[in-house]
Parts: sequence; structure tokens; C-alpha cells
Amino acid sequence: MSNKFFSLDEIKDKLQVPEQADFIEAFFNWQISKWQFARENYTALESVKVKRFNFPDTSVLVQYNPHRVGSIMALTDEKSIANRKCFLCNENLHAEQVGVKLTENYTLLVNPFPVISIHFTAKFNSHVPQKISENLIEILNGAQTLGDNYFLLYNGPEAGASVPEHRHFQGGAKNKLPFLKDIITKIENRYKANSDLTLMDVLDFKQTKLFAVQDEIRNYFVITGVNASEIEEMFFNLFNVFTSLFGAEKEIKLNLISTVEKGKHYLVIFPRAKHHPSCFFEEGEKQLLVRPSTLDIGGIIVLPREEDFNKITKEKIKEIFSEVGISNDDFKHIISEVKKH
Ligand SMILES: [Zn+2]
Repeated sequence: MSNKFFSLDEIKDKLQVPEQADFIEAFFNWQISKWQFARENYTALESVKVKRFNFPDTSVLVQYNPHRVGSIMALTDEKSIANRKCFLCNENLHAEQVGVKLTENYTLLVNPFPVISIHFTAKFNSHVPQKISENLIEILNGAQTLGDNYFLLYNGPEAGASVPEHRHFQGGAKNKLPFLKDIITKIENRYKANSDLTLMDVLDFKQTKLFAVQDEIRNYFVITGVNASEIEEMFFNLFNVFTSLFGAEKEIKLNLISTVEKGKHYLVIFPRAKHHPSCFFEEGEKQLLVRPSTLDIGGIIVLPREEDFNKITKEKIKEIFSEVGISNDDFKHIISEVKKH
């Protein structure tokens, strides 16, 4: 054991976390107490400006967060990647940064550029490119280890990842992502209450279910179940349909959120049509710097420029989501294809 990396048991012992307590939060607080740079950024996050936009069946928070400009503007072409130091590689971590073993191949770190008040990065233990088809089981296992209060997310290499050269997930406190709580409640209460939300039961496989969901701004899928390998099988059924429909040089564009509640996995899958909306490339008044990643698609839009925060409207949000998400026709097509398998 080095003094930078710990197993879960070592961290529980070291911080004397009681059996039933939230050891993830204890780890977070301990890291923040020792790392001034990150602590200052978490303190700054408390005073960022936030606006809320309500849609009939969902809501979106917009955050003005200048600290995220590096991530949103990060260049992800081969040349830029080759010319920079990878800040997820062990030798480039901050001196104060410590890690906890989350799964077989992933280490949990505190994210020093937060969007939510408890924000993690889970990095792969070696420098290999972002690719979910080789690691789906680890996002499921990692979410299980984090427990009911947290989630993990995945940004595809062409769907929001700012460091696609080093495989990673992000993680955070579930109560900071209202969308996730809402969709779990809607799925669990689907036979009880009327909802504006369109929730379609697409497939059942043993104990695993696939839902297709349409709300005012998004078309997406949710897989639920208690058995990780069944969920994997269901996911790849969907993944293969996406790939045959859209094709991809690296990987089809997608965002994932994985969480566990009362022993049940919830894997949310947002297929994407585009990485950047057209307003990203506009000039002057028409430009709006937004490059949606999983958190944005999950209802926390991060804008690094105050002028964009001031001018964004509900209509613009709908337009951005419809541009970067998949069309209703593609959504219907995927549903019919996936049923054939
Ligand atoms: Zn690296």
C-alpha cells in the first residue's frame, strides 16, 4: 500500500468510519480537509448562480460555473491529446490527492472542478482510451460499492468526455441530481399514478427490464434489475442496435448514469446524435458555449460564461436537447429493432 491509495477497508479503518455510516462522504470530507485547491473550488461552488427551468414532466438547472471552462473547451483531437499531460495518470495527480479502490480496475478520486457538491472521478488504473464496451460491468459494480446515496456516470469519447484518452467515470451525490430520483420514482410507481411522462415497457428478460422514456426534452432508455450480468446483456443488445444505426469511428455517442437503490440497479442510457449543438460554433450574440455531457443531459446544464447564463431560455434548452439527442424517428426505430433480439 502506498500512502496515496487505499482499499475501502483501509479507509474505513483510517477514518474510523462506523459500520452504518456513509464512508464515501467521510472519504470526501477527509480529502477536502487536506487539499486546499479542491476545498476552495467546493467553497466557490456554493455561491455559483443557478436558474431552474420547469418543463411539464421534468426540470433543468442551469449553472454559471467559470471553473468548468477548461473541461467544456477541452480539445479532444488526437494532436491536442498527444501534446498534453494526462492529469488522470498517477504521476500527474496533485500532491495532496488520494484515491480509494472502487472496483477491480478503478480508483475513486475527488474531482477538484466540481459541478455538484460531492463530485468524484473514478479513473481506470492504466492509461487507455475511454470505451464502455470493455467496462460496463465496472460502472455497475462501482455504483453498487458507492451505495444508495451516489451514482456513477459515463461520458462517451464523443459525448462530453474532456479526457477521452484516459478511461474514467464520474460520480456524485444522488440528491444533487434531481432527474435521477425522479425517474426512479416514476419507474417504481408506474402502475399507480398518472404521469405526463411517456414510459414504455420495451423488454423483459428474466429479472431485468428495459424501459424507453420520452419526456419534454429527451428520448432515453433505462435498464433495471438485480443481476449485473443480465443488465450487461440487455445493454449490449441496445448498444449493438445503436451502433448498427449510427455507426461510429470510436464508439457511438452516449451518456450513462448508473445507480443502485434498495439492491436494484438503474442504468440510464442517453443515446446522442451530436457532441456539440450548433450554437457552440456560432459567433457573437448567437454563440452559446455549451458542450453537453452526462450531467447536462441529466438536467444540470453548466455554462462557463455569464453572458450565456443570462441569455439562455427554455426554448433554447429544448432546441439544444433536441439537437444533441436522438430524434423521435430514430428512437422508435431503436425500440422496434431491440425487440427483435
Ligand atoms: Zn492517463
